[in-house]
Amino acid sequence: MQKKWINDGDAILVTASNGFSISEGLNLFADDKKLREVLGNLVDKYHLPNLLMALNYKYPNPLDQWRAFARIIEYYSNNYEESNYMQDLKQIIGNKPYFIWTSNIDHHFSLAGLKNVFEIEGNWLEAVCSQHPDEDGIYNISSKIHDIYLKDQAETLTEADLPTCDKCGAPLVLNLASEEFQIHQKRLAAFQDFIEKYEDQNLLVLELGIGPQNQMIKAPSMQLVAADQNSHYITVNKGQLLIPDLIKERSIGYSSSIGAAFKELLTGKSFGAKTVGPEKPKPRPQYTPEQIREREKAMQNFYPNYMADQGFRPGSFPMYITVDETHPSYLHTVQFGQSWMYSLGDAAIVHCFTQEGQYYQVRLGLNKTKGEVHGFYVDPGTFIAIENIENKVGFSQLNTQIPLNSSSEVLVPRKDKLLQLFPNQRDIIERLTAN
Ligand SMILES: [Zn+2]
Repeated sequence: MQKKWINDGDAILVTASNGFSISEGLNLFADDKKLREVLGNLVDKYHLPNLLMALNYKYPNPLDQWRAFARIIEYYSNNYEESNYMQDLKQIIGNKPYFIWTSNIDHHFSLAGLKNVFEIEGNWLEAVCSQHPDEDGIYNISSKIHDIYLKDQAETLTEADLPTCDKCGAPLVLNLASEEFQIHQKRLAAFQDFIEKYEDQNLLVLELGIGPQNQMIKAPSMQLVAADQNSHYITVNKGQLLIPDLIKERSIGYSSSIGAAFKELLTGKSFGAKTVGPEKPKPRPQYTPEQIREREKAMQNFYPNYMADQGFRPGSFPMYITVDETHPSYLHTVQFGQSWMYSLGDAAIVHCFTQEGQYYQVRLGLNKTKGEVHGFYVDPGTFIAIENIENKVGFSQLNTQIPLNSSSEVLVPRKDKLLQLFPNQRDIIERLTAN
């Protein structure tokens, strides 16, 4: 089945996130022997628990900052050798038109010789001017990194060796998600051309190591599949699969290692990898206009200020909610999983109460340095409430997708039960329970 999907596909969209990098041996989150091997004395000097912290740490001087960058980038990218995973992937793609859409910053797909790559969060072999990031262009600093690495090893590194902007002389900063980040316009345009060309054809989305919460790549690529009846979706993510009902019939999920999944995809034979799907979606109840009006009335209790839009994507419609000081969205849950995206205005805070008794908050907005995310996914059955962060002024607009004909009854939590389960969140529960 999956082999046929690959063979019959007009084009392949490969989407990949950190699960793929981890398979290749680059784990940004791990505190292991390799961390010390790569970063050397910087680990103890700054108590660095992992590579992610090493990349984002506010070092007291630019020399140590670039030492850390150079040691990491030299090890993982300048010395990169094509992995078995890359070889398998190239074989799966074969001669078909393809594009790689990734949030990985290691540049491995390009280093392995794949040409059509869109890196949504940039890559660490590129830098921009710290003073005029949007005017002075994107610099490739691969060889500069190599020089810094060599001088660091020889203990001769000075500030004069650090990269500066050719146009104005200001220091360069890595072109990664930050305030200075510049999207590579040419690659973005090529990627958009690819999507436009194939979105109505027999497109295969092959998703590698993307967590269910990823909204930058996973949600829109699932929407692409949902929108086009000819397309297929293969996802590989050990232990954490998310396949919406809407596309189940045309989806296969591998809860296995990427290596095992590739082996099956290449041979069309089973090697015992755990898979789910494809399966028929559950029949959905059809609502009468009266029931729909009822539902809208119920929705208004939880979203005092919302607007639903008849779909531009078949199968679902977008809903926009606006929250401000006097109009929060009150505690409620829906039976389907839901992605929430920031769209306009100030940042918003989403309070989440899970069925398992966990409470967490997500900040929806644009300012990454404040821990804000552009979007996230809520598991089915989670109670959520949303309010404006700057409670006194302004407003936030967010959007989500409501499946058409879904059994999307809004569920109200029992306040006494919630208070019992979440005594520490009493304030929030009291404030954000609809009357
Ligand atoms: Zn400059």
